[in-house]
Amino acid sequence: MLTDWKGRPLRDLRVSVTDRCNFRCGYCMPREVFGSTYEFLPRRQILSFEEITRVVRLFAGLGVRKVRLTGGEPLLRQDLPDLVRMLSALPDLDVALTTNGSLLPQQSRALADAGLRRITVSLDSLDDDIFRAMNDVRFSVARVLEGIDAAAAAGLSPIKINAVVRRGMNDQTVVDLARHFKGSGHVLRFIEYMDVGTTNGWRLDQVVSGQEILDLIDAEMPIEPVDSAYRGEVARRWRYIDGEGELGVITSVTRPFCGDCTRTRLSAEGKLYTCLFAAYGTDLKEVLRGGAGDEEILDMVRGIWNSRRDRYSEVRTEETTGLDRIEMSYIGG
Ligand code: SAM
Ligand code: SF4
Ligand code: SF4
Repeated sequence: MLTDWKGRPLRDLRVSVTDRCNFRCGYCMPREVFGSTYEFLPRRQILSFEEITRVVRLFAGLGVRKVRLTGGEPLLRQDLPDLVRMLSALPDLDVALTTNGSLLPQQSRALADAGLRRITVSLDSLDDDIFRAMNDVRFSVARVLEGIDAAAAAGLSPIKINAVVRRGMNDQTVVDLARHFKGSGHVLRFIEYMDVGTTNGWRLDQVVSGQEILDLIDAEMPIEPVDSAYRGEVARRWRYIDGEGELGVITSVTRPFCGDCTRTRLSAEGKLYTCLFAAYGTDLKEVLRGGAGDEEILDMVRGIWNSRRDRYSEVRTEETTGLDRIEMSYIGG
């Protein structure tokens, strides 16, 4: 088994299939930076489905069991079900997707038919005014809820719903969101607002801790902890005492989980990053297009993972947020 110097195995691969997004919510693509003149990657610089499938196949051989397609907004990538079909044909691999949900009404059926089984939809508030203020194109909450229903109807249940909580933005709507999904069969997970990229103007006082969120919910709908299912599970799990389902908190800021981080990320243009907060990635596209054989690529990846020392969230302070790093819209969550 391939492990890094801390003994962390390589288990999960996140693949960004596009750096574009049709929401541009302030969390990872603030409108001041990603406005109409922002230049996204040209098509030829983006990995093809064949290139992505080759990389995933090689990673599966090194122990990766879960691949998650992300972005940018992955449903903007043309013919995405074709990629899902190609990846689903690989043995022992769980294929998942994270989306803002806006295109799920049109695409859920084709994705499910192509072999997608697990889906995570981002929805930060049920309050339309807050939600519209957060995304740059004034999508409504109803559109995302419609997407969640379409995904459930296509057989993609149970669905995970991710909500990033930022103080002064959507923190007062946390309990409403929990109430909405309680008893729905879907699992809501609250994520602490992180200092991803260099453009979101993050400050520590904007972070609402997972504990604060749990306390707010527990005061109205009592909950109790559930044991985590496997090493490396990033969400701490809780269940409603009345039996109406589960929820989770992802405490990347107040209780980091770097010690169990088994994840690596491939950007849309084929750079490999071993941490969400890395400043540099290894250019796999150049290697793939340069005609490298499988063994050469595998050796390279083994070397990268063996020497991995990432633990950014364990050493985060307000000072470290000024360090250079890739944008989340470029590499996925
Ligand atoms: N566009 C898709 C979406 O929004 O689900 C996929 C890509 S998005 C970068 C992946 C996840 O990252 C989303 O659930 C989003 O809420 C989360 N995210 C973005 N910015 C974040 C931040 N600053 N802190 C924590 N999570 C963040
Ligand atoms: Fe787009 Fe998702 Fe980033 Fe929001 S979090 S700007 S929807 S990529
Ligand atoms: Fe993994 Fe880096 Fe996040 Fe730590 S900060 S959990 S090493 S991605």
